[in-house]
Amino acid sequence: MIRFYDVIKKKRDGLSLSTEEINYFVRGTVDHSIPDYQLTAFLMAIFFRGMDERETADLTMAMVKSGTQIELNLPKAVDKHSTGGVADTTTLIVAPIVAACGVPVAKMSGRGLGHTGGTVDKLESIPGFSTALNMEQFRMQVAKIGLSIISATAEVAPADKVLYGLRDVTATIDSIPLIASSIMSKKLAAGATHIVLDVKFGRGAFMAHFDDAKRLARTMIDIGTMLGRPTTVLLTSMDAPLGSSIGNALEIAEAIAILTGQGGSADLRAVSLALSREMILHYYPDMTVEDALQLAREVLESGRAYAKFKEMVEAQGGDLTNGLPQAKFNSTVRATNSGFIHSIDPLLLGSMSVEIGAGRHKKGDLIDYTAGFVVAARVGDRVEQGAPLLQVYSGHAVTGEYLERLATAFTICDQQVETAAWRIERLT
Ligand code: URA
Repeated sequence: MIRFYDVIKKKRDGLSLSTEEINYFVRGTVDHSIPDYQLTAFLMAIFFRGMDERETADLTMAMVKSGTQIELNLPKAVDKHSTGGVADTTTLIVAPIVAACGVPVAKMSGRGLGHTGGTVDKLESIPGFSTALNMEQFRMQVAKIGLSIISATAEVAPADKVLYGLRDVTATIDSIPLIASSIMSKKLAAGATHIVLDVKFGRGAFMAHFDDAKRLARTMIDIGTMLGRPTTVLLTSMDAPLGSSIGNALEIAEAIAILTGQGGSADLRAVSLALSREMILHYYPDMTVEDALQLAREVLESGRAYAKFKEMVEAQGGDLTNGLPQAKFNSTVRATNSGFIHSIDPLLLGSMSVEIGAGRHKKGDLIDYTAGFVVAARVGDRVEQGAPLLQVYSGHAVTGEYLERLATAFTICDQQVETAAWRIERLT
């Protein structure tokens, strides 16, 4: 008989766990027979001691089997997932692009997490938009228009739901085996046959260092390969906000600007096109990398991707005829001195957007969909004293102290300094 005390001790002492012990842990997580204090002690032991390849794969499979495994009835189901970033609105651009290229997108997304935003919260800022379709409605919409994005249901990978909640409040998020099993179990349980992952590294990411992000990427690719689900990773930097907008309705507005060719951040557009290219390549393996990128670009520039986005909004009850909700208050953060922008802290901006209601402090908090920021300057830009750096949108007036703290997210130097180049790297 397994005693969970012994399993914790074994991992604490750096030993490898058997498949049976890992299955016992996941079963006890879902049926709540293991108390939270033992689960969190165990998570901390994994955080410090890690897991080998076999243990991580066993953990992933046990989490997949902890709930319903969705049968999408599609010849191929290509899914994408980001490890989480700030102003990281790629799904809202990528999903309609690839759907307009004929790649069916049946996507379950998450809500905001910590300082990072979530696709479901963003979509729900569109008046009337429902992310709570049942499985039949979800499948029917994908069959009819090739695109649906819904919120993850409690039945899919329920072990992750419990463990994620505990990790969020016990400083055990940034662990390679725990992130890898969390993400891959959700993708596999949701029926993905091919997977594209956007693994972020840098100050605004859960993996701050490139080498750790790369090890995380390799771990997920290995799990995907072992389970017969080809997986591609783009490693992308998160040292500054990816897009210009942080906050739910603001990010939808930026996604629409990119989909309609009316603006939006060039970096966000570039990462979205690169991710689209990877999804297209999984679906049409005979295409070259260049052709896949070209197809994504054409679909974006011709407006077909935007037409697909509107089709999805309409199918899920959304109504954009009167636009997106607008914030009651608007303030500006200005440069306190002239110079060159050396860095923009994504972690501080993401966390401070949560303070004004763009995210939740605790489960069940209501979101202010209008709250957030639009960054007016990019790293490397020359700014003069008094120039706007950031526009703040909120449902209540913000204090001068809050604006001063926001200004510290921008480091301005006298000289144009060499900054870490914006990076993107592909692993298969
Ligand atoms: N996203 C997830 O779904 N899980 C993690 O552990 C981290 C990011």
